[in-house]
Amino acid sequence: MPAPSSPPHRLGVVIEAPQHSGLWGALDYLSDRPLPAGTLVRVPLGKRVVTGVVWTGAGEPMLAASVAASDLKAVIEVLDGLPPMPLAWRQLVKFASAYYQRSLGEMALMVLPPELRQLDATQWARRLKRLDKALAPGLDAAPLEVVLPDLTAQQSAALDALAVPGDKPYLLWGSTGSGKTEVYLRQAQRALGQGRQVLMMVPEINLTPQLEQRVAERFAGRRIVSLHSGLTPAQRLRNWLMAHYGHAELVLGTRLSVFTPMPRLGLIVVDEEHDPSYKQQDGARYSARDLAVYRARLEGIPVILGSATPSLETWHNALPEAEGGAGRYTCLAMPARVGDGDMPKVRVVDLSRSPKGNAGQEPPPLARELLDAIAKRVERGEQSLLLLNRRGYAPVLHCSDCGWKSGCPHCSAWRVFHRQDRSLRCHHCGFSERVPRACPDCGNTDIQPVGRGTERLEEQMAAAFPQARVGRIDADVVKHKGTLEARLADVHAGEVDVLVGTQMVAKGHDFRRITLVAAVNPDGALFASDFRAAERQFALLLQAAGRAGRDADVAGHSEMWVQTYHPMHPLYQTLLRYDYADFAAQQLSERKMAGLPPYASLAMLRAEAKTQEGAQAFLSAAVEAVQHLADEMGQITLYPAVPTPVQRVANVERAQLMIESPQRQALQRFLTQSQAIWLAVAKENRRSGLIRWAVDVDPLSI
Ligand code: ADP
Ligand code: ZN
Ligand code: ZN
Repeated sequence: MPAPSSPPHRLGVVIEAPQHSGLWGALDYLSDRPLPAGTLVRVPLGKRVVTGVVWTGAGEPMLAASVAASDLKAVIEVLDGLPPMPLAWRQLVKFASAYYQRSLGEMALMVLPPELRQLDATQWARRLKRLDKALAPGLDAAPLEVVLPDLTAQQSAALDALAVPGDKPYLLWGSTGSGKTEVYLRQAQRALGQGRQVLMMVPEINLTPQLEQRVAERFAGRRIVSLHSGLTPAQRLRNWLMAHYGHAELVLGTRLSVFTPMPRLGLIVVDEEHDPSYKQQDGARYSARDLAVYRARLEGIPVILGSATPSLETWHNALPEAEGGAGRYTCLAMPARVGDGDMPKVRVVDLSRSPKGNAGQEPPPLARELLDAIAKRVERGEQSLLLLNRRGYAPVLHCSDCGWKSGCPHCSAWRVFHRQDRSLRCHHCGFSERVPRACPDCGNTDIQPVGRGTERLEEQMAAAFPQARVGRIDADVVKHKGTLEARLADVHAGEVDVLVGTQMVAKGHDFRRITLVAAVNPDGALFASDFRAAERQFALLLQAAGRAGRDADVAGHSEMWVQTYHPMHPLYQTLLRYDYADFAAQQLSERKMAGLPPYASLAMLRAEAKTQEGAQAFLSAAVEAVQHLADEMGQITLYPAVPTPVQRVANVERAQLMIESPQRQALQRFLTQSQAIWLAVAKENRRSGLIRWAVDVDPLSI
């Protein structure tokens, strides 16, 4: 029986629904007020009350008008005072949800500040009151005048090109130290001058404190907010609201900031656009870089992707069609560094010709020539940076009597020996134990570390250079808040002579006195199964080289050392000349032959189950169920299910299956049609121990 006073307005509301619920669109609710699309509301869902976003406002055509109004529930309350999420935001969310194969509700709610999803209307009203000041317009002082450096010829040329309105995304391809940031800042200045907002994206905010500082200095007096996962929920809500209300003029953020509603957005910058952290690795696996490009087109504003080593996708998009590229982006090149600073000279050390250690012993960590070169720096009071992408003391402990190795009982991986806290720790599941005094299998007390991590390299360097101050920066060191900043300050103050670090220190920092950078063990990437490993390694090495010799007085003798057993490998040969374009051309021709991105689109269907058989059984059934679809559509290749590179993590078995198409749209159509079928297959497979499954579109690693 419809109540006589049943509310008159019918709305479509999206709520956070798990992928497996099969709920992809909006649910219908009734409201006594005609709420516009984008309004945040609280609605009943079963026994709970949840936050939702009005997707189709009153009077708009409904998605599923089949349910009779008498069967619908009413909106409980409205988050009044919050401006509705703008159309551009809804379009972006809708695109992302379709492209990355997640439900609309999951996408929409996921990209809101976590706190906003939890507040009821009363709590929200209270919060809004407290934020009165932050959200009140026009309280700030006028922007301060700052002295700007004269632009280099390259910067001027780039900015001239940016001044002409165009509808293509820009690739700012500039060497490390070419002054890309100055170009971002000037272009941002232009947008701010026109009363527009600016979104500046960085891969990881705590690794780029200098950029934050430069933005703050340049735009002193303006409202700048940051958005990243390191903020408290309250800070994040406040900053997000300031952007949404249009009061924050510049938002500096990580990947999640691409979804920030900004009513006057006039420019998006994506710094280090090649960085893998722009891709979300769980849940809705979106690429913030790609969404930034989409959003810029949607809002008709420029987007600048900046990098010294663009992703091959971006590079391909920026290459003119005449050169085999897609010609979709405009490339602005800045090959020279600011000032006289050349890039450091690259020295490739052939380890296969270095003397080995004694039989049964591990080879010394560094070649003789490299040790000598570091010794010279120490004497001259200059700094050296040694890169090793492996934390801990040794990747595994080994008993030579019985062959025991420090495996993780929960993962198909070794546990890493951390000497500092005498622990054996699994880097996949976190399982940690005190290191045993003797072999747990045979009681032998002589168990040995095998291989080398940063802790051990630090120890070896301290032994090799007793007169030098040796330091280390990696994720273990900087676990505690503030340590990273403190360590970096030590390096900047010249209190460290030899710095050992992971890729964490290769990014963004401007070390003045470093005249030697060495990649201790970079060969792994040459033979990795992941087709992007070489691309990533080239970017990392070039970025690391950029840390050296930034001051003119030391730049002349700066060096980038690479230790390798494969000195003739094209990766190192192109690095010798800093020839990214040549490296990219070689990689692209390999990708073309192999039918890999950017010449094909990929998706990965991933599954987790109690057993490997269970995971693979689901994937095989999933393939079988959509094979006819693939055959009908054509252009779709389904590969067999295989275990993931680390197949068991925390007692969960993982498998995956690759889907490939030469045509992005074809792949999209196929995935969209397959979703419902896979949902049904998953339901049947629950009994055989399937835990989770997901589609990863444009996967970063395969
Ligand atoms: P990138 O981001 O390309 O690595 P940066 O923008 O960090 O390069 O610039 C490198 C250094 O050069 C910085 O210290 C910056 O302050 C300085 N710089 C940039 N542009 C100029 C300029 N036009 N004149 C003088 N110094 C500049
Ligand atoms: Zn043993
Ligand atoms: Zn583990």
